[in-house]
Amino acid sequence: MSINVAIDGPAGAGKSTIARRVAAEKGFIYVDTGAMFRAIGLYMLRNGIDLEDKEALERECQKAEVTICYKDGEQNVILNGENVSGLIRTPEVGDAASKVSVNGVVRERLLYLQRELASTSDVVMDGRDIGTVVLPNAKPKIYLTASVEVRAMRRFKELQEKGQEAVLEEIQEQIRERDDRDMHRDIAPLKQAEDAVLVDTSDMTIEEACAAILKLIES
Ligand code: C5P
Repeated sequence: MSINVAIDGPAGAGKSTIARRVAAEKGFIYVDTGAMFRAIGLYMLRNGIDLEDKEALERECQKAEVTICYKDGEQNVILNGENVSGLIRTPEVGDAASKVSVNGVVRERLLYLQRELASTSDVVMDGRDIGTVVLPNAKPKIYLTASVEVRAMRRFKELQEKGQEAVLEEIQEQIRERDDRDMHRDIAPLKQAEDAVLVDTSDMTIEEACAAILKLIES
């Protein structure tokens, strides 16, 4: 049986950085499920699909083949044969991902891929519904969060470091909107699984958060 570690939480809580480091430390594969939804979001944006149009989304998502592969230990997301890993990290694609992810048909399409990866490899998988829906038997389950202000400031700094323009208040607003959509959708909403351990990273460094999670895995 493979070891499955689930890390869920809202945008900007540090999930991907922390999950990637923890996976490297343990020699597990890191699976970033948000990147899969981002690839579907990118597909819809590129094809001018109305993200509020349920029928169009369900029809078009059948044409978006998402797979992942690993190069030098890094996850690459492949959309219809094209490596889109470098194109999915924009706020626009994040917003599109959040909008397409409310759709049950879109989620179902990715669920199979996520479960298959977890059944064949030891994984640290991060997302919104990993502990609640995708891998209900994962152990340990971690719910990683931080205040909206701290998460917005982290995103702001990240964008600044990349030389991209950013307005802190706008990022805060986007995060609030995304939290609201992710937490209140009908299918697989973001919430802490009953058996998940809450880790609030507002006042923690990345190193402290990783150490806390490694301790949970080892215990
Ligand atoms: O984690 P990331 O910000 O890359 O995820 C983008 C969006 O994809 C999230 O806002 C969320 O709406 C959606 N998502 C999801 N379920 C997951 C992972 C991501 O609904 N397991």
